[in-house]
Amino acid sequence: MSIIKPMTEEYEDYLHDESRTGGGYADSISFPCSEEDVIAVMKECSDADTAVTVQGGRTGLTAAAVPYGGHVMNLSGMDGIGEIEEDERGVHVKVQPGVLLEKLNEYIREKRADLFFSPDPTETTADIGGMIACNASGAKSFRYGAVRDHVTALRIVLADGETVVLRRGEHRAEGRKLELTAESGRHYCIDLPTYRMPDVTKNTSGYYAEDDMDAVDLFIGSNGTLGIITEAELELLRKKPQDIGLMFFFTDEKCALDFTDAVRKSDICPVSIEFFDRHALEILEEKSRADQNSSYMREMPAGTAAAIFTELQENSEDEIYDKLETAAGIVEETGGDADKIWVADTPGTMKNMMDFRHAVPESVNALIDVRKQEHPGIAKLGTDMSVPDDRLKDVFAMYRRGLAEYGFESATWGHIGSNHVHVNILPRNEEEFGREHELQAKWAGEIAAMGGAVSAEHGVGKNKAFMLGIMYGEKGIAEMKAVKAALDPKGLLCPGNLFGTDGE
Ligand SMILES: Cc1cc2nc3c(=O)[nH]c(=O)nc-3n(C[C@H](O)[C@H](O)[C@H](O)COP(=O)(O)OP(=O)(O)OC[C@H]3O[C@@H](n4cnc5c(N)ncnc54)[C@H](O)[C@@H]3O)c2cc1C
Repeated sequence: MSIIKPMTEEYEDYLHDESRTGGGYADSISFPCSEEDVIAVMKECSDADTAVTVQGGRTGLTAAAVPYGGHVMNLSGMDGIGEIEEDERGVHVKVQPGVLLEKLNEYIREKRADLFFSPDPTETTADIGGMIACNASGAKSFRYGAVRDHVTALRIVLADGETVVLRRGEHRAEGRKLELTAESGRHYCIDLPTYRMPDVTKNTSGYYAEDDMDAVDLFIGSNGTLGIITEAELELLRKKPQDIGLMFFFTDEKCALDFTDAVRKSDICPVSIEFFDRHALEILEEKSRADQNSSYMREMPAGTAAAIFTELQENSEDEIYDKLETAAGIVEETGGDADKIWVADTPGTMKNMMDFRHAVPESVNALIDVRKQEHPGIAKLGTDMSVPDDRLKDVFAMYRRGLAEYGFESATWGHIGSNHVHVNILPRNEEEFGREHELQAKWAGEIAAMGGAVSAEHGVGKNKAFMLGIMYGEKGIAEMKAVKAALDPKGLLCPGNLFGTDGE
């Protein structure tokens, strides 16, 4: 019996994701519990030429999981986790795609407290499948890399219901030609795009393509457009026993940029370097005043214009304190005050600092929700662009210039260590919202000229599809569409993602 159900009001939540983009609709929905279910649904939809929007935890910020017609396949029911296995390749665990990040983290803590899964995209209710489809990263990627660096194998169901098993290192392209063979023996020949990807540490803009690339990498970051991930093998890392969080405050934003640069050039090698601008901190302060339970908040030094959070993980207390001393020296040299550093060196204070970090996007989202009551047509549109290290100051100058020119209210935070901050424009009405795209498109052009990426970690989804063409040009888009056509000739999987509504 088919598990496909008609879309009714009961499933209204499945027409949205965290981008809060409106207008989603679908005819039917399914909640597969196994790969067999996924195959059956995919075959049924393929026979009927029905588009399928694949969903994980719906925490995505680009409407990638929002359906515009057809069928919704939500994978949250596939949430099994295998045994943690150790061999000469390292330590690994196999998971189904619907496993929540928080559930995986808890499982690892219980089974092997000495290990961890390093990708940390802040929102722990993301599913592993969604994280892989977006090549999610987050704060800790500064030292440990994005999801891509920790996926060693995938099982995938293609649009025609065929299954492909890919183990890293076993299936490589020859130059830019990739051949895949399904378990049934069916072949797929793919001409990979010929573009050169940007030289940045974080990038999830369109399809991954380079000479002799690993086939696993094509599916990571593909926003559900090439296949449905039904199982992933993930690499786990060994924890360093000493962990400390530090918050530095600056009365001038430029000092925070100098600090970032100096820390990167030092031997501190933090896990993360995270930035918060004045307005993001003000919104957070306001929310924490209204919040009954905001133990993460303390009084910030007077005149704070920017803050930087870093996390250090080392093997011994001595190593940590050497690095803390170096960081204190750098903060003094770059215009900050070493006496005003917040130090989190216990599990409780560390949790407060992480809660502080998490509360920033949440408080901005809450502010937009309030504004939406009066202006339902608005949404927050945050940038997700990254540039090479030597363009950090240029990109900040570009953001500040653009915001002043358009008169937009904004709040900026994020992964400054990777030259990747989220500039969130906070529209006060529909008119401002309507002009946001224009500014984002201008920025996308300048970012591409700086050798950067228009999406570093959230993926392109639907809301950023207009930027992908700016980055890769018509030829790049045509080459990506050819990849999709080779694997999904009917254009059934996640229409609208990457290519916009005209792209399939
Ligand atoms: C407060 C907040 C903070 C965030 N901070 C960060 C951050 O710091 N870094 C970061 O990287 N992200 C961040 N995010 C974004 C978000 O958590 C990620 O994009 C997440 O990886 C998406 O996972 P999901 O399960 O929610 O996917 P969904 O939103 O459900 O889907 C995202 C995409 O994945 C595809 N997909 C889902 N499952 C599968 C599957 N099994 N097979 C194929 N395709 C699939 C969907 O089709 C869609 O294209 C943040 C989000 C929030 C709300």
